[in-house]
Amino acid sequence: MDSSHNKKLYLETWGCQMNVHDSEKASHILEGLGYEQTSDPGAADLVLLNTCMVREKAERKVYSRIGNIRNAAGRRIIGVMGCVAQAEAERVFERSPDVRLVVGTQSIGKLPELVAQLESGFHRAIDVRLSKDADFVELAPEKRRAGVVAFITITEGCDKFCSYCIVPFTRGRERSRPASSIVAEAKALASRGVKEVHLLGQNVNSYGLSGRRTSKTKDNDSEWTTFADLLDRVASESGLSRIKFTTSYPKDFTADIVNVIENHTNLCEWIHLPAQSGSDRILRMMRRGYTRRDYLDRISYIKQSTRDISITGDFIIGFPGETEDDFAQSLELAAEVEYDGLYIFNYSPRPHTPAAAFADTVPDSIKAERFARMQELQRRIQSRRYSRYLGMVVEVLVEGESARSGQDLTGHTRCQKVVNFKGGRAAVGDIVNIRVTELRANSLYGEQV
Ligand code: SF4
Repeated sequence: MDSSHNKKLYLETWGCQMNVHDSEKASHILEGLGYEQTSDPGAADLVLLNTCMVREKAERKVYSRIGNIRNAAGRRIIGVMGCVAQAEAERVFERSPDVRLVVGTQSIGKLPELVAQLESGFHRAIDVRLSKDADFVELAPEKRRAGVVAFITITEGCDKFCSYCIVPFTRGRERSRPASSIVAEAKALASRGVKEVHLLGQNVNSYGLSGRRTSKTKDNDSEWTTFADLLDRVASESGLSRIKFTTSYPKDFTADIVNVIENHTNLCEWIHLPAQSGSDRILRMMRRGYTRRDYLDRISYIKQSTRDISITGDFIIGFPGETEDDFAQSLELAAEVEYDGLYIFNYSPRPHTPAAAFADTVPDSIKAERFARMQELQRRIQSRRYSRYLGMVVEVLVEGESARSGQDLTGHTRCQKVVNFKGGRAAVGDIVNIRVTELRANSLYGEQV
């Protein structure tokens, strides 16, 4: 590698917010090794793809993307991190011989050693170890890029083993980060001008419940609380204006979480609570650990709140054995809950998971038809739900310019709706009041008041 120029890093991120946050950590570690980021893979010395394999399509796309980059690549190092790296390990090298670096989901902190191996002449470097005691890679707040919204990891991994999901295999057993370290990070971010923090985990509600020890803090059990207590602490001690959290898991979602939200104005009115199916038979086959009734009980805690909390969710369409009647129950559930937003996914089998061996698969044509029906239902619900905002004044955190929308600025409401509006006196980082003047399918438009 040529040492006469600054080394360049091209980092591409796929998948969930956990991956976005992992990319942030990787780029900071690599900056410490002299890499600066470029948006041009052709100019990079190190190309890193932070990958997702929650769905089959995402995994296939990763390999074709490696192929494109390889065509453009000269002497540069191509590396794969994230879930594909973890699950495929050495097979990544076999499937894409130009890849020289494979970094598992718990190995981001090993990047300096791995890159040093490659720079010293090794052809390949890999670390995909998983440990139930692995430490969290924490990002010093002063090292973060200034921004108004930041992520904080509170749990990593998952112990639920839903029958269709690859996450427990790619992210390892569930671990909760000590509460004091989360609160300290939240405070430090607030003091650096961050306005909104998202507490992240595969299952934030399982915080502190299982697999909770990290090797650093093994002896101190008081370092963990319930999720509701953690929210209470972050809300009262951090000084942040807005706190959001995702993803919530229905089985572990307790009424005290809603009570805590009611006690703190900086806890925002948004809960993402994936149902995945409305049929008890399918929920059992998915091994979700709750029934439709249990799920609706959680929804009623949220709807009975004194705060107007937005609910978003996920459904999987075409799980093996899903009949027309099972699907009809999913439609009914979606209609009963009236989500403000819904992520709908077609089921695809994932390696290592029990559901991949289930018989009675649903043909793609039926999945596509059910998907369209669910989407149409949600479109109607969402347009009705959004209409309540017309003329209303909503609080928006200004996050950036909004060139494509024809407005000046864009941001999110407390309930996670996108709002585009004419700038007026507002600047990035301000929290402003916007009167909603127009509704679109997935966003609101308005003017500053
Ligand atoms: S709760 Fe289920 S779907 Fe969510 S990450 Fe864990 S195993 Fe996957």
